[in-house]
Amino acid sequence: MNPDITRSSAAELAHALDSGELSSVEVVQAHLDRIAAVDGDVHAYLHVDGEGALAAAREVDQRRASGEEVHVLAGVPIAVKDVMATKGLPTTCGSKILEGWVPPYDATLVAKLRAAGMPILGKTNMDEFAMGSSTEHSAYGPTHNPWDLTRIPGGSGGGSSAVVAAYEAPLAIGTDTGGSIRQPASVTGTVGVKPTYGGVSRYGLVALASSLDQAGPCTRTVLDAALLHSVIGGHDPLDSTSIDAPVPAVVEAARRAEVKGLRVGVIKELGGEGYQAGVRARFDESVALLQEAGAEVVEVSCPSFDYALAAYYLILPSEASSNLAKFDAMRYGLRVLPEGVDDPSAEQVMAATRDAGFGDEVKRRIILGTYALSSGYYDAYYGQAQKVRRLIANDFSAAFEKVDVLVSPTAPTTAFKLGDKLDDPMSMYLQDVATIPANLAGVPGMSLPSGLADEDGLPTGIQILAPATQDQRLYGVGSALERMLNDRWGAPLLTRAPELSAKGA
Ligand code: GLN
Repeated sequence: MNPDITRSSAAELAHALDSGELSSVEVVQAHLDRIAAVDGDVHAYLHVDGEGALAAAREVDQRRASGEEVHVLAGVPIAVKDVMATKGLPTTCGSKILEGWVPPYDATLVAKLRAAGMPILGKTNMDEFAMGSSTEHSAYGPTHNPWDLTRIPGGSGGGSSAVVAAYEAPLAIGTDTGGSIRQPASVTGTVGVKPTYGGVSRYGLVALASSLDQAGPCTRTVLDAALLHSVIGGHDPLDSTSIDAPVPAVVEAARRAEVKGLRVGVIKELGGEGYQAGVRARFDESVALLQEAGAEVVEVSCPSFDYALAAYYLILPSEASSNLAKFDAMRYGLRVLPEGVDDPSAEQVMAATRDAGFGDEVKRRIILGTYALSSGYYDAYYGQAQKVRRLIANDFSAAFEKVDVLVSPTAPTTAFKLGDKLDDPMSMYLQDVATIPANLAGVPGMSLPSGLADEDGLPTGIQILAPATQDQRLYGVGSALERMLNDRWGAPLLTRAPELSAKGA
């Protein structure tokens, strides 16, 4: 194990807790100290619950001391994206409209973390209601990329990837509607997994687009992601879209780490024009490594992927406009009274509250979504987008007849500068061009660090995709590739990130 607690992987911490080498209180305290030292600069947390985390740690230490059989990750702390309902802890979704809201219940996923004895360090920053690719749309200020504080950490879950990249938590939970786990992983040099749609319960996840949303692990290693995936996955009767089957054998696959004889398809439509040279170079090298290790690599065409982004930006706003209708100033959080109106109606209060409480990107999407759903346009926009969605699913099915997994770069670029794309929504949307097809089809995807781009020295990611319910394949390939890349680099990529506190920050 790394002598520095916060530099250890979750698997290493679990081992040290099990052997009695460390207590959970020590592990939690080390992370709280790290947060105190660096989060002023990174701003990855919206809320830190030191007391709650220490209390949970004490409890699990006692259970262990009394000889109780505990979960393998018991005592390992975790950070949770601020879009998951946490009983007794603020949940804002990065929005002013939910400022001060403290949920009276836990999301199923959060309840599972607690049941496993995992102390919750706090809630992580995000683009408002998970809309964005840079975390700059958070109403509470942006998160900074630990590799370079002047750059974005990706989004919408930039906070969850940044906390693991900055060693402020060994594990975090993200959510991925169009890429919000995988793209932040890619630009922060970490691992991110979007499980199969329905593989992890959405109960208690504040919905952005219900047919696309999926929570999953943000970690520093593939094995850690697998360990976390098996805690949060599984059937939940409270979520009608939850898959009624056991969690795929992800931990076993991560430990086996095999690629020999595996058929790997390189997606022709993802990775060409518009992708940064350094992103492509590192991707090609990773594919070559897989080939050297005995994988059969072929090129596969998925022609409908070219329309994925367009379909997504009709389906997502449509669902979001409906999901966000519940923020009506009556039930949750903020209530603003219209100025200069003596006896305002409910509608006037609602309008004033939504005007003050929602940011520009949220308003943009609500307007787009209500337009796309309006009578007369429904068939032309929403209906048409759903047909494209079917074509994309068909492309995946055809591809998975020929190969076991598909690969592409995760994001077209490395982390850009804060502020660079804020006035240009379209170029922000393009960050997810490679990740969105998986959400539209419900298939699982992983992003893994593939190296540093030559032109800027920043992390790049490779995306691995598998058929629905075959999540274990991601972990088999991912952990084999991770091992080969670490051998090549001599150490995990993250060890090359500049030391944060040394910056005098
Ligand atoms: N960046 C994409 C968007 O803005 C994806 C968001 C997400 O996955 N939550 O919609």
